Amino acid sequence: MSISYNKLSVRIHLDRIRDNFLTIKGKAPNPIAIIKSDAYGHGLVPVARTLAAAGADTMAVGTVGEARQLRESGFDGRIIALLGALDRDDAAICRTDRIIPFVFSLEHLAMLAEAGSADAPLPVALKFDTGMARLGFSEKDIPEVLGALQTLHGVRVALVASHFAVSDEPEQIEFTHEQHATFQRVISALRAGGHTFEATIANSAALLAYPEMHHELQRPGIALYGANPLHGTSIAHMGDGLHPAMEVSTPVLQVHALPKGRSISYGRTFVAPRDMRVAITAVGYADAYSRGLSNTGVMVINEHRAPILGRVCMQMTAVDVTDIPAVASGDTAWLLGGTGPTPVTPEELATQWGTITYEAFCLLGLNPRTYE
Ligand SMILES: *Cc1c(COP(=O)(O)O)cnc(C)c1O
Repeated sequence: MSISYNKLSVRIHLDRIRDNFLTIKGKAPNPIAIIKSDAYGHGLVPVARTLAAAGADTMAVGTVGEARQLRESGFDGRIIALLGALDRDDAAICRTDRIIPFVFSLEHLAMLAEAGSADAPLPVALKFDTGMARLGFSEKDIPEVLGALQTLHGVRVALVASHFAVSDEPEQIEFTHEQHATFQRVISALRAGGHTFEATIANSAALLAYPEMHHELQRPGIALYGANPLHGTSIAHMGDGLHPAMEVSTPVLQVHALPKGRSISYGRTFVAPRDMRVAITAVGYADAYSRGLSNTGVMVINEHRAPILGRVCMQMTAVDVTDIPAVASGDTAWLLGGTGPTPVTPEELATQWGTITYEAFCLLGLNPRTYE
């Protein structure tokens, strides 16, 4: 579903997603491509097809519904549903469509065992909480989990997973080490209990920074889309070589003078300190371009930077084109990416927005997309 009432164009460069995947594969041999939430706003099916053609054999989405959509698109490899099978319908779809659900409760484990059978046990991924305190079994649940698995012949533990809270913050590496140590104890105990499975804990940041935490499978998400999860840290260089796949543009509606002393837009938060020229662009907060970018964001027009002036409105935003030659109605304004030496990077946009690249992609990706 996309926003249908605007002039925005979200361009997805699938070749860059393929290249990012191959770059990641050069660092970690068995990546599960994380394409949840419509591939972080890049489009589930086109991204999945690109990754499958590049050799991805396992992909993970959020809901079982999204997993089914991926299966119906023709992907024949392994599909994981990170949010798990939440009811009997979900469990039945896991069986018919060969989807591996994350499982974080004994109740769901028993429900899945009913959908499977001793002859054809359903493969599941046990999710352990090692420090996120979100979903998952805890280390102290292991005896109970092992006990339950002895009687639940309709399921088979195919994967054991956990998730890092601060692997993208090297200054908090202690916590990442603690989480990893807990995970090591969890997988050892489950293996000692007689289970054979693949272990996975590394997200993009850990995949790039901590090879010793790779285990059998790694789970890159944001890196596939070309944002560097280590941006701004002391180890940012470990994420070099990724290329942003999303670019977003919109037309300039009008260019006009803003004489010294005149204010612009709601609230009169910007007053021209000199005679200026401004371009009014066709984008606003109704297009998921945050009003928080008022007076702080920047666009690229005709290969030059055009800072936002005043408040972002519902469907329009003013930018400074005083020093950009020959800007005219119909020119293209880039909110993300763009031509010339200084495109708007995802990290820069996210910082100005007061968020992370993930959210900027998910939200801007709601606008009409084209693929190249
Ligand atoms: C989203 C997600 C990932 C990917 O994380 P990135 O930081 O985007 O690499 C990995 N594992 C789980 C369980 C996730 O939900």
